[in-house]
Amino acid sequence: SEKTKSKDSKTSATGTTTKQIPYARLVEVFNELEAESGRLKNLACASRFFLEVLKSYKDDKEQAATNLIQVTYLMVNRLGPDYEPDLELGLGETILLKALATSTGRSLADIRKDFHKQGDIGIVAKSSRSRQSIMFKPKPLTVDQVFKNLKDIAGMTGSSSQAKKIGIINKMLTSCEGDEAKFLMRSLEGKLRINFGQKSVLIALSKAIIEFEHFLKVEETGKKRKLKEGDIAEADEQIRLSFSQIPNYEIIIRKSLEFGILQLVDHCGLQSGVPVKPMLAKPTKSITEILDQFDDNREFTCEYKYDGERAQVHLMDDGLLKIYSRNSEDMTGRYPDLIDVMEELKSLNPEIKSFILDCECVAYDVDKDKILPFQVLSTRKRKDVKEEDIKVRICLFAFDMLLFNGESLLRKSLKERREFLHGNLKTIKTKFQFATKMDSRDINEIDLFLTQSIKDSCEGLMIKALNGPPSHYEPSKRSNNWLKLKKDYLEGIGDSLDLIVIGGYIGKGKRTGTYGGFLLGSYNQDTGEIESICKIGTGFSDELLAQLATLLKPKELTKPKASVIYSSGNSAAQPDVWFEPEVLFEVKVADFTTSPVYKAGYRYLELSGDRGISLRFPRFIQIRDDKDVEDATSSEQIVEMYQNQASLQ
Ligand code: ATP
Repeated sequence: SEKTKSKDSKTSATGTTTKQIPYARLVEVFNELEAESGRLKNLACASRFFLEVLKSYKDDKEQAATNLIQVTYLMVNRLGPDYEPDLELGLGETILLKALATSTGRSLADIRKDFHKQGDIGIVAKSSRSRQSIMFKPKPLTVDQVFKNLKDIAGMTGSSSQAKKIGIINKMLTSCEGDEAKFLMRSLEGKLRINFGQKSVLIALSKAIIEFEHFLKVEETGKKRKLKEGDIAEADEQIRLSFSQIPNYEIIIRKSLEFGILQLVDHCGLQSGVPVKPMLAKPTKSITEILDQFDDNREFTCEYKYDGERAQVHLMDDGLLKIYSRNSEDMTGRYPDLIDVMEELKSLNPEIKSFILDCECVAYDVDKDKILPFQVLSTRKRKDVKEEDIKVRICLFAFDMLLFNGESLLRKSLKERREFLHGNLKTIKTKFQFATKMDSRDINEIDLFLTQSIKDSCEGLMIKALNGPPSHYEPSKRSNNWLKLKKDYLEGIGDSLDLIVIGGYIGKGKRTGTYGGFLLGSYNQDTGEIESICKIGTGFSDELLAQLATLLKPKELTKPKASVIYSSGNSAAQPDVWFEPEVLFEVKVADFTTSPVYKAGYRYLELSGDRGISLRFPRFIQIRDDKDVEDATSSEQIVEMYQNQASLQ
């Protein structure tokens, strides 16, 4: 509409006037994305909007970048990169309901009642606001204001912070019109629900930026030309690669606008201090399958697969050390003991200035010089650990080096990267070791090595290409050049999956008073939706069920989230209660089957009646609290595993 398209303006310190993007315009886009479930249409909608933002600042690249960065972060419901602290939204229900009550003048009890009925704070906010009559009309909200306010709120701590946060929220709510309150509250809660995941945001950005470059060129030369399909694909590839090396929208957007998106990778190389998205492995079921993968005499190597927590260790030029998790979160505070080990490592070789190491951090019995099971590691405190309180010792097993003294090693072979790792670092007994490795193609030798890895308290083996481009380190990729062989596969149980708990079934008999089973879902990385995959009731002890009841009760909802896809017409797929999709279960499974009741992968399969994939004989292993919903096993992976299974039969 005219109203929302017109730009608000603000006079800067230098006296020049800068246009501002109305928050209402972004909300229009959110509404469009929420209403549409087609992936291509959503991609087109988002990239059109990004292009509109860029074009409205076509004479001022700085402003174009700043505004595009803000709308991008608001769209992924974050305020900065994952690895920077205090940028998390996800405010609790209590504070949000309180803010709504004070700003609308309705009673907290009424608001709470509505919330339990609707299960969506955004909808309650919208309906409460529209009932309210306003004496005078405040100035409309801008994207810049909302972004900065959210950032202030996320950074506030301390005793008086709650009142301050409510103050800022109220002020914004007073200025909200139409659906603005709905999305503002959802953003604050950290649950935007617009069916648009990070992967899609990157594609939409690349398309908008390449189209913007083209638009400027046409304007400059006055010659009309068509944008090449090849350039669109290349822009997509450049942004994907760059983001996996520097997962920071701000850097990616600024560098694309400065140097051109087709040159982005050259300007987004690895940096110590910025976590790289880790390379991932594909599951295999047998040693013969591995030999088939590496059939053309390509060299490969086997390493122990340690069972702990992935740790990416960064030493920066200024001597600062950081440890990042599998999800690129800063977990330096969790491992003060590792920092000491790294300092010691540094002192053993004065040549070392900076590095990035890919490692597994494992619980360790120092007296017996032995690895301890993962369960022991998980008893360590996760936040603000004080060195004097540490009971469980750890040992770091390094298996890769991604950067050394400022030089990126990603495009070197694994053989060369290993030479850097082993040549520049020294092991420290019980504290820092290199992953045990063995290079052989002999099926018996590999079998013996696998058995030995289990005896040494590992999960199995990792098998990796050793030479040439296939052995390059590919950030964020689940690659055929890294295979994992867990002992469980050999027992015929199959690979484990990490699935999202979306619903619960009220327990009966012995399980009265707790949930007796759960409905699980896989994550569709293209749409951001969660697709139902199976019901699970096996593998739970009574203690665990009690613990799960405490964990999940506060997450109960009366209605499923809009992002949850399930077969609503089928009572077998209807749980008794729905949950806020936040908790992940690691699950083992016998095999996969298609089903009229479950939805995993249905968008990729195109089977009649929207059949999806389901799991046979799923069994609970553990809660995966080191993964977010976005890191759950993806629907695409499920389809791939299903198809692999079919081809094996
Ligand atoms: P999983 O549930 O099997 O840990 P994942 O999804 O976390 O799976 P995968 O890529 O499937 O990750 O398996 C590789 C994981 O194994 C790595 O993330 C790392 O934490 C761990 N690991 C242990 N030893 C090694 C090793 N030698 N090389 C690579 N990764 C290793």
